[in-house]
Amino acid sequence: ATIQSSTHKIRQVENSCLFCRIVAGEIPATVVHRTETTLAFRDIDPKAPTHVLVIPVAHHADVIALAADPSAAADVLATAAAVAEKEGLTDGFRVIFNTGAHGGQEVFHVHAHLVGGAPLGPMLA
Ligand code: ADP
Repeated sequence: ATIQSSTHKIRQVENSCLFCRIVAGEIPATVVHRTETTLAFRDIDPKAPTHVLVIPVAHHADVIALAADPSAAADVLATAAAVAEKEGLTDGFRVIFNTGAHGGQEVFHVHAHLVGGAPLGPMLA
């Protein structure tokens, strides 16, 4: 499907992709930050006081595909940094890209989990 973005460019949307549908406004989300190329919204099942998902507007399946689009990758990291500042995560945070089956990835539109707001403990418990 194609939809009109706010910049009036025609953008491809994968109808079967949950996060493309959130970008398109077809599924509600609690948006905390938005740029022309990225969207940040609260995880529906938060694992920490702050748990925000940062995605590129463009559909990339995983962090490997995102790495092939360096400007989108940089924009995702810049948005994660902006959200960390907005959320007041001055004592630190984690940015996690779950990737593939062993990584526990369930939604195949790449997303950075930005988690913080409390000590997170050892990563591999
Ligand atoms: P995992 O569920 O193992 O963390 P992913 O890394 O693919 O797998 O993360 C998908 C994330 O998307 C999960 O944290 C899940 O809670 C979140 N999620 C699923 N549906 C929604 C939604 N409609 N709005 C916000 N977050 C969602």
